[in-house]
This record gives sequence, C-alpha cells and structure tokens, in this order.
Amino acid sequence: MSISVLSIPTVAAKLGRTAAAGSFLSLVSIFRGDITRLSVDAIVNAADNALLGGGGVDGAIHRAAGPRLLAECRTLNGCATGAAKITKGYDLPATYVIHTVGPVGEHPELLRSAYRSSLDVAKKNGVRTIAFPCISTGVFGYPAEAACRVVLGAVEEWLRENGGAIERVVFCMFNDQSERIYSEQLANF
Ligand code: ADP
Repeated sequence: MSISVLSIPTVAAKLGRTAAAGSFLSLVSIFRGDITRLSVDAIVNAADNALLGGGGVDGAIHRAAGPRLLAECRTLNGCATGAAKITKGYDLPATYVIHTVGPVGEHPELLRSAYRSSLDVAKKNGVRTIAFPCISTGVFGYPAEAACRVVLGAVEEWLRENGGAIERVVFCMFNDQSERIYSEQLANF
C-alpha cells in the first residue's frame, strides 16, 4: 500500500512549532519506513556509478519498480559521484526515480553535491515532492551524524536559493539511529 506525502506531517507540525510558510521546517518531513512505498513525484536512489542496481536501498527500489527500471538505467551510461540522473518510476507509486551517487567514506562536498544535483534534476523535471534516503550512510560508510549535518545544510541552502520550486522534501529513515539523529538535528535547526 502506498503512502501519500500529505499524510506525513512536516517537522514544524510535528514539533508543534509555528513556522512561516516556505520556511525550511515547513517544507521538510521525516518518514520512518521503506522509501519504495512513498507516493511522491520522485524518490531518490542511493545508487553506484554503474546505475545497474545493487544492495540496500538501490536493490529495494529496483525490486519494487520492476525490470523496466533496469532496462532504462542501462541506457544512461552510468553516473559520476555527486551527479544525478532521472528515470521513470515504473511499478513504484513514485512517478520518477532520481539516481544519485554519494561518496564512499566521509567526503562532505560530494555528499552535498549528490543532494544538490538531485534537487536540480527534480526542479528541471517539474518534481514538487521528493523523498531522500540517507545517502552514503549504509555500505558507503559515511558516519550518520556527520552526514545528517551536511544534508540538512545542503537542502536548506538549496530550498532558500530555489524558493517555491519544491513543495515537500521527505527524509526517509530506515533505522532507529537515523531517525534519532535527524529528529535531534532538525529540532535544533
Ligand atoms: P549507500 O551505498 O549509499 O551507503 P545503502 O543502500 O547501503 O546506500 O544505504 C543508504 C541508506 O538507505 C541506509 O541508511 C539504509 O539504512 C537505507 N535503506 C536501506 N533500504 C532502504 C529502504 N527500502 N528505504 C529507505 N531507506 C533504506
């Protein structure tokens, strides 16, 4: 069963904060669960350079989207670290998948670039609602707390620079540790 982005409260609503319309906390949500269930315009895939599927969130997205996703990915000629490419979502509830490649290990500029490139591709394709997994924090080994600081800074800055382009950014948490880290860092924002 798919989950509508509108049913996920913004961080401001969750914290009971009055946040001005268009402010960062009014544009972002935390979702705990499987990103492949989200009915958003685009989900972001933490892919590798080949863009031919893999483990973790990449494997889950390919399984849920079906074989047509891999067929389209084969036409893309891979993706550089920090860049992003878009495909259709096929059997997913999401319309598009934006494939990005985060760094292996702690490289803040490349992680920042993966999020910013994904948002740039989203904007170019008229995406209004987008969900991100915690890119690079699984097999790629970026420490979760440090990654979260980079991510929130990068997304806040991008939304400020691109006022109104995106309606909602969902941070998708797949384990207790990331959920705690994002909740803490967003509450202090
Ligand atoms: P990377 O290679 O970029 O580290 P991984 O897929 O190994 O990518 O992990 C990235 C993050 O995605 C991790 O925090 C992991 O817990 C999370 N994750 C794994 N499966 C899913 C899923 N189905 N939905 C959302 N997040 C997921």
